[in-house]
Amino acid sequence: MHLATHFFVSWLLADVVAENDRERCILTFSGILPDIDILPATLMGFSGRSQTIIDVYQKYHHVLAHNFTAALILSAAVLLLTRRKYKTALWAFIIFHLHLLFDLLGSAGPDGSIWAINYLYPFSQTPLEFNGQWALNAWPNIIITLALMAFTIYQAKRKGYSPISMISKKADRIFVETISNRFKR
Ligand SMILES: [Zn+2]
Repeated sequence: MHLATHFFVSWLLADVVAENDRERCILTFSGILPDIDILPATLMGFSGRSQTIIDVYQKYHHVLAHNFTAALILSAAVLLLTRRKYKTALWAFIIFHLHLLFDLLGSAGPDGSIWAINYLYPFSQTPLEFNGQWALNAWPNIIITLALMAFTIYQAKRKGYSPISMISKKADRIFVETISNRFKR
């Protein structure tokens, strides 16, 4: 699925299970980590060799960080960052796998070609795939993303903070004030 979908679902789940701002940030990041290679691919795509970059990206994107080994490395890193909070590391592992599940469900190409995940990489190249996978740009992904976005805004109004708080508390206050005024009863 799209990065935005992963971001909103990870934020919403992190918001339920995290015990402080830092953990919320770490857990949200855990849910978008598998797609981190989008950044260099996008940046390099502007350098003029975009088709080569797209080809490499499509070949390796569901391989490099969409696997069990990456989940273990992430969980170990979270253990270090949280001074051995096993519960947070376990949630990072779960949120990471939620990303993989979403990708298995809705990441097919426009022609219906299934985009598998190399879950056992680098120990095995056996692809993991779901035959009912719908296209990346299909309506279920749009509906799911819009629903997650709407729920994120609803929660921001209710709780008084939004994902923007991970970047700037001041900008977050302005955002929450704006939506609170906009959706005032
Ligand atoms: Zn992904």
